[in-house]
Amino acid sequence: DVTATKGNEFEDYFLKRELLMGIYEKGFESPSPIQEESIPIALTGSDILARAKNGTGKTAAFCIPALEKIDQDKNVIQVVILVPTRELALQTSQVCKELGKHLQIQVMATTGGTSLKDDIMRLYQPVHLLVGTPGRILDLANKNVCVLNECSMLIMDEADKLLSPEFQPSIEQLIRFMPVNRQILMFSATFPVTVKDFKDRYLRKPYIINLMDELTLKGITQFYAFVEERQKVHCLNTLFSKLQINQSIIFCNSVNRVELLAKKITELGYSCFYIHAKMLQDHRNRVFHDFRNGACRNLVCTGLRLGGNVCELSMPGSAIYICSDCMKMGIRGSIIEKATVNNLVPLTCMVSALTFISKASVGYYYRKNDALLYDLTLDLFTRGIDIQAVNVVINFDFPKNSETYLHRVGRSGRFGHLGLAVNLITYEDRFNLYRIEQELGTEIKQIPPQIDLAVY
Ligand code: ADP
Ligand code: MG
Repeated sequence: DVTATKGNEFEDYFLKRELLMGIYEKGFESPSPIQEESIPIALTGSDILARAKNGTGKTAAFCIPALEKIDQDKNVIQVVILVPTRELALQTSQVCKELGKHLQIQVMATTGGTSLKDDIMRLYQPVHLLVGTPGRILDLANKNVCVLNECSMLIMDEADKLLSPEFQPSIEQLIRFMPVNRQILMFSATFPVTVKDFKDRYLRKPYIINLMDELTLKGITQFYAFVEERQKVHCLNTLFSKLQINQSIIFCNSVNRVELLAKKITELGYSCFYIHAKMLQDHRNRVFHDFRNGACRNLVCTGLRLGGNVCELSMPGSAIYICSDCMKMGIRGSIIEKATVNNLVPLTCMVSALTFISKASVGYYYRKNDALLYDLTLDLFTRGIDIQAVNVVINFDFPKNSETYLHRVGRSGRFGHLGLAVNLITYEDRFNLYRIEQELGTEIKQIPPQIDLAVY
């Protein structure tokens, strides 16, 4: 019986008490969404590429884990925060100083346009955290006054601006001064191609956090097939036999139709799960989780109009215990479900437990009594169907509006995977088809007799 609450308090990150005091004194009561996503992941040591709108609290999202990770007894630079402007450097170092008010962490800001000599003098004093613009920090590193060989965390704020031709070469040179096992956190409001290229070259299995809530139909080939209502199941059967389905999600417009269709599909001999809004959350989560794990090829569900989408199915409720064996074995992402109470990871082990688990998944974790609980359904980042194994989405019932269509068929752009969407269109749907195409500025073509495998 697991009744966990969402881990959305700063206490849940098990930060140093002095840091927690600084956070509360700054007036932060609870983490913002980007902080909630980034902090636990950053604490595990994973690289992160995070995208969120301006004013959402990105600064603290990286300053808090940075301050937490710094060992104040070691007088070396352990974190570098790169920013594109002098003002931002000062502002960010100020935030670090405030949050770290009760810690003995030395923060220094350095930017071009100020005396290099002064910076060199200041670096004779202990510095744990250096904030600055890339060119100046590189100068100091080249002169050997700024020693980065124990700097295990590099943070790039406003990464889109930092990766301009002006800064990029300096950043790449700077990275060479750092240890190979450094952690890189990139924060940005946009993801231009420069950011993507950089990520591909320097980040290791990064967590992509995208709170921009953007769905796209890019990479998805969309077809329609005109059918009569009573031909739909037959048509679906034909699709199943013709398409190379890795996994599919099939949408219906009502709870009843989901159950009926799931039954039909099973009768046709295809494996099939179903989820709809009238099922208990816990049950939905379990089905969804099993589907994600590949226990079944097809998932039938409602349009999830309950303010929802597939992602919502994954939300809290399905917490599980992580057992210590999983850590001992060191299996990345290994999760032992229904671990016995004796097996629970004590709180003190949380970060290492998350290190393992986080490789498989991102999400919410929970605390209950002395156990660490982790929301299993986790790694749907935002909205839309981001289950990478799903290569086919079928609108068995065509949605009534473009928003629903986008939520069913669209994916978060960062994955860039190919996919196929097939819409069964009845006579009544034909105006909607046209309207949705117009509104989304997309093209839904009539289904050809053969579909090229390469498009999905
Ligand atoms: P971003 O870098 O995403 O544009 P900032 O880090 O500059 O956003 O934060 C915007 C504002 O929100 C700042 O004034 C900051 O102090 C405040 N802020 C950040 N996190 C929290 C929080 N958890 N609770 C309350 N205020 C916050
Ligand atoms: Mg910012």
